Amino acid sequence: MNNKLQKIVLVFILGFMQIVGVSYANKESYVVSGLEVKLSMPQGEYFAADALMLNFTLTNITSEPVTFLKWETPLENDFTGDMFAVHLEGQKIRYIGKLVKRAAPQENDFITLAAGESISGVIDLADGYAIENEGNYTLAFNKHLQIVDNLATKNSSKLNLKLAPANSSAVGFMLNEGRYMKQRAKQANFSSCDASQQSVLNNAHAAAIVIAEESLNSLNNTATSEQATAERYTTWFGSHTSSRYSTVTSHFTKIHDALANQQVTLHCDCTDSFFAYVFIGDEYNIHLCNAFWNAALKGTDSQAGTLIHETSHFTVVAATDDHVYGQNEAKILAINNPNNAIDNADSHEYFAENTPALLMEDGDGSSDDNSDGSTSNNSDDGTSSASGGGSFDQYLLYFLMLLGISKISRKYWLK
Ligand SMILES: [Zn+2]
Repeated sequence: MNNKLQKIVLVFILGFMQIVGVSYANKESYVVSGLEVKLSMPQGEYFAADALMLNFTLTNITSEPVTFLKWETPLENDFTGDMFAVHLEGQKIRYIGKLVKRAAPQENDFITLAAGESISGVIDLADGYAIENEGNYTLAFNKHLQIVDNLATKNSSKLNLKLAPANSSAVGFMLNEGRYMKQRAKQANFSSCDASQQSVLNNAHAAAIVIAEESLNSLNNTATSEQATAERYTTWFGSHTSSRYSTVTSHFTKIHDALANQQVTLHCDCTDSFFAYVFIGDEYNIHLCNAFWNAALKGTDSQAGTLIHETSHFTVVAATDDHVYGQNEAKILAINNPNNAIDNADSHEYFAENTPALLMEDGDGSSDDNSDGSTSNNSDDGTSSASGGGSFDQYLLYFLMLLGISKISRKYWLK
């Protein structure tokens, strides 16, 4: 009987030791790290086009200096590893950022914080995580920090690094509408482009992806009941039908995919006064001409917009045509012939450039009287094909077409 009691006491003591041991180990490793992570986001709610900027602050909460490696923390101002646990209502969100194989650390890879000192970095969460669906997100820093073990390093010629968990606060935010996760754009190839042209083109390509994505988000996030009165849509594509609206949406899906995910090759071999041209069957090859180099990066008839225009022409993308050029002509086309407007390259360019900015959502939601959004009540007055007196631009265009280069899609320089 004594024996039995002894056994029970022993089990009890062992169990107790284990509990103490575990909690001691946790406490110790926490003290070894000595760094506290604070996360914050400037807004509680975000919309599709918003950057999801996260502030990351590390504080040395010990009374000694702490030296650590900044690798795989937002202090590198980039995602270099899967460093956060991000969840949408309990579901883990997958990491889409870089995974890096490192060489040995250099001196400037280390940061030393004095007792009580803090350091901060800012990072766009959408660069690292596939954030697409609306809902409530939570995140916490989920990476062990690599701390220089001063004592161990002192006694050896080699640097000793110790992995230590950081004590991280969690942060949450609400995404109010669905969005497309950021795609790592495939870098464009260049043909006959010098270094300064390549740098201009890299910016233009990146800006074109941004406006293509924004266009797609705005089309997808406009409620069916608001599409018929969405000024941005109706200005460039005319009266709304659900079929035309879905055609435009599918065009922008493909334009965005072409620019972001397909191998685009940009050619600097054109010395004509056009903006650019493509051959519609020679997909993803875009030739830039003189007017392109003088255009602004963004805005009306910009470099970014030109890439949207040209990309829309490819048969495998949206197979658009050049029915008219210029903002005024494109607006008239939208009124007179919406079926041609949704097939017109410049109309896509102007929708994407959105300069001056027009809204997709009706200011006040009081337009419910037109209950069936699919058929508009304005009489479909056929197609008054040739609008008014043709401008000089148009005559020159017809002349160029007569010259037999109509297979070349031009961005016409006089616009
Ligand atoms: Zn064109």
